[in-house]
Amino acid sequence: MSQHFLLTAKARSLSLARVARMSPEEAADAFKQIRWNATNGNPVCPRCGCLGVYTYKTRALFKCKACDHQFSVTSGTIFASRKLPVGTILLAIAIFVNGAKGHSALQLSRDLDVQYKTAFVLSHKIREAIAVEKANATVSGTVAVDGAYFGGHIRPANHVENRVDRRLAKHQTGKRRVVVIAREKDGKTLSFVFKTEAESLETLGQRIAVGSIVHADEATHWDALHSRYLTKRINHQEAYSADGACTNDAESFFSRLRRAEIGTHHSISRHLAAYAGEMAWREDNRRRSNGEQYLIAVNATLAHPVSRQWKGYWQR
Ligand SMILES: [Zn+2]
Repeated sequence: MSQHFLLTAKARSLSLARVARMSPEEAADAFKQIRWNATNGNPVCPRCGCLGVYTYKTRALFKCKACDHQFSVTSGTIFASRKLPVGTILLAIAIFVNGAKGHSALQLSRDLDVQYKTAFVLSHKIREAIAVEKANATVSGTVAVDGAYFGGHIRPANHVENRVDRRLAKHQTGKRRVVVIAREKDGKTLSFVFKTEAESLETLGQRIAVGSIVHADEATHWDALHSRYLTKRINHQEAYSADGACTNDAESFFSRLRRAEIGTHHSISRHLAAYAGEMAWREDNRRRSNGEQYLIAVNATLAHPVSRQWKGYWQR
């Protein structure tokens, strides 16, 4: 049997130790190389695009020769006005990509020796940045559509006589949401969050290209897909794959998100879309080495502007 990809040397191309050993100068250099890749790591003024900058001997700042704008390597990115050293941010991204099932903010705060709140916002900024590439993407070809409910968990009572029917609306917390995904065979995964699967139909119609072959389970609301796509159905009570119809790919995404819900994040419902996007990203990149994943994630964060959702999150 061939070795599982995560166990191969190629998948381990990024060592946390190597990132952790970077000096502040090396970390800043790595940041510059990635952010200003097009100019070989030379700073570009984020305000006017000018290449001529002054540097300071004692401060890690640049000043634009054309417009006098002062900026740092993180100005105008999602890490702007950071209080964290650049090396810590890189380490956070390295740890984030290494956690195949996700990494809790609590764990990250211990790893980095920063406050829980800092770690929480940092990891959400990374999630936001890596999700951008698929914000308006469409899928095509053979596409599996499926949904699963998350959040708003009610613990079953210990004694049978105290248990309630948790499927009934009156016993639910109202926090329960369904994550619906549209997943290309050997391609990308789009994830959405709705209250019910049926509510996802309009969005799916916009994000699955016409001409695609859609695989879905037997739930009646998916009948509407037939008018738009060649649709193959499978009865989950019987199997996940039969007669060429298959929702196995969707199942592997959901099992990842389920493990993250149970094992990693305590309260997933509040930011369910963000966690679902993260798991879609992990699924889509699972065959890349962690070194590559790290570069993709750093690239994404440095290309991403200041976050409206996460900037000053705890000050509100
Ligand atoms: Zn300028």
